[in-house]
Amino acid sequence: DYFADTIRNAIRTVPDWPKPGVAFRDITTVLQDRTAFRKLVDAFVHRYHDQKIDAIAAIDARGFIIGAPLAYELNAGLVLVRKKGKLPFDTLVEDYELEYGTASVELHKDAFKPGDKVVLVDDLIATGGTMLAASRLIRRIGAEIVEVSAMIDLPDLGGSRKLREEGLNVYTVCQFE
Ligand code: IMP
Repeated sequence: DYFADTIRNAIRTVPDWPKPGVAFRDITTVLQDRTAFRKLVDAFVHRYHDQKIDAIAAIDARGFIIGAPLAYELNAGLVLVRKKGKLPFDTLVEDYELEYGTASVELHKDAFKPGDKVVLVDDLIATGGTMLAASRLIRRIGAEIVEVSAMIDLPDLGGSRKLREEGLNVYTVCQFE
């Protein structure tokens, strides 16, 4: 596909980080490459430009990098799904399981109007836990998730499959087996 190869080739894989046995997909090499970064944003713009999207919801922190230019280009709002404890106003919280322990994501209660059409974005889908927790927050407010999308899918970890089983549309620009 026109976007996937450029972006896939620009991603750096760092072996044994943050711990032995993990191959970390590092997107900083995409961001610092002007051609790849432009194509990355264009891939998402191309996917959604002909739909009426009210807001982009972006996940802390690498989701923000894609979410902000995408929202700007689509003339949509930008909503931040944050790690717990960062948002100042009234919030909703969802806890989810990590490999070791739990994590939480948080959203302002007034972030969406009921029925808003929302695209949720992050950098990468592994187990899908982060994306699923964020999706629950958005649905609790009554907004409609048009699609959840990420730059990278790790299909072997089953996250994108799990998200589809939850009734979500899933788009990823490229995949690493
Ligand atoms: P999940 O909740 O298991 O799907 O993990 C996805 C979250 O972990 C995303 O917010 C990613 O930013 C982060 N993550 C997991 N593995 C990687 C990786 O290899 N590169 C970059 N981010 C990762």
